[in-house]
Amino acid sequence: MVANLNHYVSGRPIEGTSGRYGDVFNPATGLISARVPLANRAEVDAAVARAYKAFPEWAATPPLRRARVMYRFRELLEKNGDRLAAVISSEHGKVHDDAMGEVVRGMEVVEFASGIPHLLKGDVTENVGTQVDSHSLRQPLGVVAGITPFNFPAMVPMWMFPVAIACGNCFILKPSERDPSASLVIAELLKQSGLPDGVFNVVHGDKETVDALLDHPGIQAVSFVGSTPVARYIYQRGCAAGKRAQALGGAKNHLVALPDADLDQVADALMGAAFGSAGERCMAVSVAVAVGDRVGDALVDKLVPRIRDLKIGPATDCTAQMGPLVTEQHRARVVGYIEKGVEEGASLVVDGRGCRVPDFPNGFWLAGTLFDRVKPQMTIYKEEIFGPVLSVVRVPDYDSAVELVNTHQYGNGTAIFTRDGDCARDFGHRIQVGMVGINVPIPVPMAFHSFGGWKASLFGDHYMHGPEGVRFYTRLKTITTRWPTGLRAGADFVMPTMK
Ligand code: NAD
Repeated sequence: MVANLNHYVSGRPIEGTSGRYGDVFNPATGLISARVPLANRAEVDAAVARAYKAFPEWAATPPLRRARVMYRFRELLEKNGDRLAAVISSEHGKVHDDAMGEVVRGMEVVEFASGIPHLLKGDVTENVGTQVDSHSLRQPLGVVAGITPFNFPAMVPMWMFPVAIACGNCFILKPSERDPSASLVIAELLKQSGLPDGVFNVVHGDKETVDALLDHPGIQAVSFVGSTPVARYIYQRGCAAGKRAQALGGAKNHLVALPDADLDQVADALMGAAFGSAGERCMAVSVAVAVGDRVGDALVDKLVPRIRDLKIGPATDCTAQMGPLVTEQHRARVVGYIEKGVEEGASLVVDGRGCRVPDFPNGFWLAGTLFDRVKPQMTIYKEEIFGPVLSVVRVPDYDSAVELVNTHQYGNGTAIFTRDGDCARDFGHRIQVGMVGINVPIPVPMAFHSFGGWKASLFGDHYMHGPEGVRFYTRLKTITTRWPTGLRAGADFVMPTMK
């Protein structure tokens, strides 16, 4: 009998009452490890009501005091990092060091949010008119919601709530129903950090739950990270309901290898970027663009033995470099793409489909897979696969590489490997992608910059965390002040101007 997880509202676990549950799997064993409750509208209403109640006092709490909660939370994350990583691995499948990596990247946003007193400082202008001063300040929005994907069950929520909460908002997290437990560890640590009840809440669920959040008049803003069709839907429905919305979607990230690049370095970079976390990263490189056949041939030669040597296993095996896929359903989807690639004529150089891991016969395993001579019109090139499948596309020259990247529907991340400063600079300038690496395969911006892509990879006007996050979770107010000194100017019926 597997345990039922709880929601977390107003500082305590709450049992689900909808009667609907989803199964949570351990992807290495293939066994169901828990059941997650899927909230209905009434449960969402109750959570929003508790967050709404907590908002006025939290919004009025001095930013420095809010920041101190973040300091304590950061310390607790440090102490509980291994535990949180183990929970992530047990439901997501990623290897322990990779899970620790996401905890650390999340912690960096908490560190950024700890600087909130400085980030909320406004602007003042003395004498905008005679004896008239103006100051602008940013205030929290109210209750805000975050809807997050399975692939970073701790880091992506931490892109959102530390900034939202530090700005004075109350937060409702709807984590992925595929790996929901990390959010409950986070809730517990926030409570231990001294965060008042109701400021951070977790409501588990699926589309029904998300729709209830999107339609709820008490929620002022929605942050979303997930696949593009859902991101588009969230953005449209959220905006239609009058909310501020930011929705980050899928990706197809290209790494362009120029003939002057060190191809061993490129091959190593591709291994981590394509197969780390089993390719289930929105910044994973899924397309290697070889400029010229010499580069294409050499790269494939260097990649094949590296891919065959990949050590695949459960997170409990500290020598494993890559874990299983998150669910059997997702594995079947990725396998479907491999079949499609073969059918459409790409050359399957390494086939990961026969992967077996001793002692884990029922895990959702898929080994690294390599396609060569992939063409832009093929499905495996056009669509996001989100698994350990790397495609090599050969182009004749640098300009064709730029055009290839720029005409793709997605624009999340990209990289170029070269020793040529002119090309690198030109690439940075012309490429139609939000996050660009020059000899850096996974150019994820640090917490004090902002994260987000272009084109079908992001809907909305604000990116995550960094200065954009602060702007997203606050609204501007400008106060114009005069202290009359006894002069009576009389009524004035024309537009006020500086005389
Ligand atoms: P997903 O879109 O299936 O789910 C994301 C969230 O939306 C989950 O909480 C889920 O419960 C909810 N959801 C799913 N279907 C819904 C629907 N029809 N209506 C309303 N809500 C729905 O994504 P996923 O499979 O969990 O995550 C993988 C995807 O996320 C990939 O496409 C990946 O590229 C993307 N991703 C993007 C970024 C980024 O920064 N751009 C970061 C991480 C992941």
